[in-house]
Amino acid sequence: MRIRIILMADNLTPEMRELLGRTEREYVGWDPEILPTFVGTVADIVPGCDCGGYGEHYIISVDLPDGNGLAMHCFHTTLRSQIEPKIKQSRLGVGDLIAVSHKGTKDSSVKGHNAMNMYSVAIKPKAPPQQFFSDGRPVE
Ligand SMILES: [Zn+2]
Repeated sequence: MRIRIILMADNLTPEMRELLGRTEREYVGWDPEILPTFVGTVADIVPGCDCGGYGEHYIISVDLPDGNGLAMHCFHTTLRSQIEPKIKQSRLGVGDLIAVSHKGTKDSSVKGHNAMNMYSVAIKPKAPPQQFFSDGRPVE
């Protein structure tokens, strides 16, 4: 027999509701042609994807404000150069706000190379966890 737990929405904290929502969310590959700009919260960062023949790159899963999710494969040079150093220096992590705009393509300065896809990335780190003194007073 299968037991189905019915969660009462009223009993859930916003955090729980958010977490539950994630289990039902599909992270579809980001297509800048359809959605040139987005802003959302970083849900996951996975290294080592090698789709598309661009070499290994990160996939960043993003929770969008409308409840949908997307997966951004960071293989284009101008996107990589803005994302990878931040991940490696721990300046981009799960929970941070991220905004990305695809600015179209620009002819490569190297003759014979494909046009470059241009991106602009903005990141706002999540607030650090509240710290407390040993007597329980919050650190301002
Ligand atoms: Zn990929």
